[in-house]
Amino acid sequence: MSLSDWLLELFFPRWCCHCGSYGELLCADCFNQIEFSVEIVKTENLDSLSSLTVFNAIGRDLIHALKYASVKQVAITCARMMYLYGKIPEVDILTAVPLHPHRQAQRGFNQAKEIAIELARLLKLPYLEITERVVHTTNLAKVSSRQQRAKTIQGQFRLGEFDHTLVANKRVLIIDDVWTTGATLQEVALTIKKLPVVNIAGFAFAHET
Ligand SMILES: [Zn+2]
Repeated sequence: MSLSDWLLELFFPRWCCHCGSYGELLCADCFNQIEFSVEIVKTENLDSLSSLTVFNAIGRDLIHALKYASVKQVAITCARMMYLYGKIPEVDILTAVPLHPHRQAQRGFNQAKEIAIELARLLKLPYLEITERVVHTTNLAKVSSRQQRAKTIQGQFRLGEFDHTLVANKRVLIIDDVWTTGATLQEVALTIKKLPVVNIAGFAFAHET
């Protein structure tokens, strides 16, 4: 074991996030229990919206590790699973649902962005921060009704400052960790639609129903 591996183990022990067995972030037994999602929906602003898995106990434990353990390795694991086992639509550019800068500072990183960067690397496609989050609201997970979520998220994003011609005539894929009602992905898509893109798809690690 190299010194860097040893330090990595010391700070980020590799226990299965679901059953706790030592070795991998997700052990083979738990991996085999993942239910891959086949659901692809079309929404008002998204040409397609899908996920790798349903939000079952294992998906929940992975996402929990992703959000609260602040371990970027989890995002990389999620991205690799999405790359290997997900139905990723044909696109030209990847982006992620942005976090408000305050939230990102609190958490240390944006898990959706970490997933998107690794997935873009695997797909050999560019990653671009197309939108910014301008409002830091209450946690959407605490807002239960569908209509209320859509209303809460309205106007939370704007286009980032970059060369907008980079996305002209491109197919864009927005990455998130979990989608529930799809309100957030829809709102990001609505913001991106201000640019002359060809189409916009959403793809998340898990779908919480
Ligand atoms: Zn396990």
